[in-house]
Amino acid sequence: MLNLVRQGKETFWLNPQFLPFDLTSGLCELVVSDADIAEAEARWQRFAPLLVRLFPETKSQRGVIESPLRAIPKMKQALADTYQTSLAGQLYLKLDSHLPIAGSVKARGGIYEVLKHAEDLAIAAGKLQIQDNYEKLAEPAMRTFFSQYAIQVGSTGNLGLSIGITSAALGFRTIVHMSADARAWKKELLREKGAQVIEYDQDYSQAVAAGRQLSASDPHSYFVDDEKSLTLFLGYAVAGRRLADQLAAQAVAVDAEHPLFVYIPAGVGGAPGGIGYGLKRIFKDHIHLFFVEPTECPSLLLGMASGLYERARVTDFGLSGKTAADGLACASPSGLVTRLMSNLLSGIFTVQDAHLFDLLRLLYESEHIEIEPSSLAAFMGPLGLFHYPLAEDYCREHGLTKQRLAQATHICWATGGSLVPQDIREAYRHTGI
Ligand SMILES: *Cc1c(COP(=O)(O)O)cnc(C)c1O
Repeated sequence: MLNLVRQGKETFWLNPQFLPFDLTSGLCELVVSDADIAEAEARWQRFAPLLVRLFPETKSQRGVIESPLRAIPKMKQALADTYQTSLAGQLYLKLDSHLPIAGSVKARGGIYEVLKHAEDLAIAAGKLQIQDNYEKLAEPAMRTFFSQYAIQVGSTGNLGLSIGITSAALGFRTIVHMSADARAWKKELLREKGAQVIEYDQDYSQAVAAGRQLSASDPHSYFVDDEKSLTLFLGYAVAGRRLADQLAAQAVAVDAEHPLFVYIPAGVGGAPGGIGYGLKRIFKDHIHLFFVEPTECPSLLLGMASGLYERARVTDFGLSGKTAADGLACASPSGLVTRLMSNLLSGIFTVQDAHLFDLLRLLYESEHIEIEPSSLAAFMGPLGLFHYPLAEDYCREHGLTKQRLAQATHICWATGGSLVPQDIREAYRHTGI
């Protein structure tokens, strides 16, 4: 199997270390507990009034940063027709591509970490108490206070956008270290919002390393570390409870007879790891969690399959690390997520860039939904589940009979897209590889 990965071929990796949830929950609890996730949700709530004040687009949701869950039956039909496959069950799209403020899944982790840092600083300085109305953090005196501090982050684009937009809005000095893969429009947008953008002609891991070092030399600077941060992880993990509520509201059952499949595009692993973990703690053995990575940059797959974790680099396996899925261009995976997912993740699908643009057109034509190329990777999940013999084995081993699969819910996680400028959306639709 690793041979196919090395050759840049599309494939499916079934996680040999996957275990039933009851055998893993105690171990995982040591790192992140249900109480930790509940605390993160409470922190989001404290900040809701401030978010409404700083970002009026969040008013209709009362300052809650959440996205719709939408059934996409026409896309299901289009996939079945185009790829001559039978997709048993219902197909849904989770539209984190349309999360407020940042237009990507990074709104969950990135905004959360900036808010937590602001809270920590303000409380330590005696300027805020937990029971206060957090709207006060938008007052000029607080902006002046925050302006003494810097927040820095390394990014392929979207994490930089979410952190940059939020930290600049609070008054922090903001420095974003952008890898070579970052799109020009993302850098421009950030500069418009008042962030300083430092560009690198190297890959993501190197932009992170440079940012980490620069930040460490400034005692007033805080570095958001996508490769290690437990805070980012918790921001993402809150998605679990929220999705469970959305499924309940749409009367979608999740139990032994109604399995849930979730497919999330993965870069360094923070977002899919945190979201997946939050979901796993709620749905346990009834959820089957899969990540999807580009064929040229399957860093989590290699980190987990080789046991090298964060020391795995896709270039050491003969791959370029280059992909049109800019949000997934991380040559080395998160050590935290590759370890935490060891026994929880069912498997990883890989996808070639050309497929992303075919799927982008298919989604646009069938459902009139526009998301960015990285997001389309999610659709390799349902396609792959009914394609690879190994995936069939997985279903058999886990009691996923024909009858149960017919009652399954598949959720493709759309991770970004609503901030993409119109001309670039059109260019994506005309991209052929
Ligand atoms: C960041 C990102 C991902 C993956 O998140 P990681 O935390 O890097 O694994 C997926 N899609 C898009 C659009 C992203 O920006």
